[in-house]
Amino acid sequence: MTDRSYATVNPCIMCQPIGSVMAFKGIENSMVLLHGSQGCSTYMRLHLAHHFREPVDIGSSSLSEKGAVYGGSENLKKGLKNLILRYDPKVIGISTTCLAETIGDDIGRIIAEFKEEEEEIASERIIIPVSTPSYEDSHNSGYIKAVEAIVKEFTATDESGSDIFNNKLNVVLSENVSPEDTRELRRILSDIIGTNSFILLPDISETFDAPITGELQKIFPGGTSHSDISDMKNSAAMIGLGITNVNRAVSYLEQTFDIPSQNLPLPIGLEYTDRLVAALSMIAGTDILEAYQKERGRLIDAMVDAHKYIYGTKVAIYGDPDNVLGILSLALENGMHPILVVASSKSPGFAEYAMERVGQVKPDCNVTILEDVDFDAFNDAVKKAKPEMLIGNSNGKYIAKEMGIPLVRVGFPIHDRVGAQRILSLGYLGAMNMLDRVTNTILEAQEEKLVAKWSEPDRYAPLDREFHITEA
Ligand code: SF4
Repeated sequence: MTDRSYATVNPCIMCQPIGSVMAFKGIENSMVLLHGSQGCSTYMRLHLAHHFREPVDIGSSSLSEKGAVYGGSENLKKGLKNLILRYDPKVIGISTTCLAETIGDDIGRIIAEFKEEEEEIASERIIIPVSTPSYEDSHNSGYIKAVEAIVKEFTATDESGSDIFNNKLNVVLSENVSPEDTRELRRILSDIIGTNSFILLPDISETFDAPITGELQKIFPGGTSHSDISDMKNSAAMIGLGITNVNRAVSYLEQTFDIPSQNLPLPIGLEYTDRLVAALSMIAGTDILEAYQKERGRLIDAMVDAHKYIYGTKVAIYGDPDNVLGILSLALENGMHPILVVASSKSPGFAEYAMERVGQVKPDCNVTILEDVDFDAFNDAVKKAKPEMLIGNSNGKYIAKEMGIPLVRVGFPIHDRVGAQRILSLGYLGAMNMLDRVTNTILEAQEEKLVAKWSEPDRYAPLDREFHITEA
């Protein structure tokens, strides 16, 4: 919100239920039903489909005026029945919308009644309600709440059939990352601690980036398996990825099952990837693997190569808080000047961790840190700070265009380019990828400026004259 406005104009955040959809899509054989009007699920389906370039089916209880006045119980039960008959999911997440929260439907009671009334089709299903009123918080909090609800539900029921210590590591995300990043995380975890030694939640590597098989699949295969989620209570340790918000699933597992945990930043850039690789190596009881020492060495080589082009470039970074913190770290490590750092939503740890990282790498850097702002306020801040480039989601493109500066697209959402699901920013490989993209964008912008200054002639020689090379 700007000084001149008492309304939010072009919010940087999306509403809570869309975050819960992203979390539920990361578990095996699941569907989400939004308890609210049809428009909510239409908006979210479109938003997610544009970003991930996949069909995204989301159920709706299609509340209308009648439901808003008399309660949405009937609609929700009908919606659940239809969803089960058409998709046959094992898990159904029910996320509330503004309307359902405003009328105050008791979702737990409605689910209990539904299970009793429709025992034949409902008895084997796991139905998980998540309260996601959209007039508070953001898609990030919706994601965190849904992951917590999933963990609570599965560890209360005993899907794995076991209470036996599994000696595994739980890795729980508190912010959505791309399918490519999820695959990279799986690779790092498999290489360092072993393929069957971790449980990653949520896992959208396949569900939001599925191969075409020629068969119509109503629910894409993949996601964290139900038995793995149930088994999280038997694990030896936990890593929460993301530090700007409280990872509620990790806190719950630690408090309830006494599993030791640590929260680490998303591994974006050199330092934050080092922290993850070191933590995993310590858990595995090994030295840093040679393959990862080499990857790290190649990243440092890339940083040396890029340094002369990007050093001192003034940049504004915006988006989801943990993603922004990681990109800030990467920018600082590479000598850039992050003059404006903006988290779309309010997060308890964002400003503190951002300032800490600035202090560690470039204490004299004059940086403005904002959070919980809309694009109107961001626009004003960009005009004041005058960065030379933006790094963030595609919603900043109008500001970049108006300012005549380049935008490197990263984060969520990216509607106006293809390949968002394959953007890699995690790990040493992700850092190299980001560094190349940022540096090449700067080089391209510089070239465009130089064209006007040192423009080449229209042609090198008159077309009607032949040239002969004469030897000296
Ligand atoms: S803000 Fe509320 S009404 Fe709008 S899409 Fe989200 S849940 Fe639905």
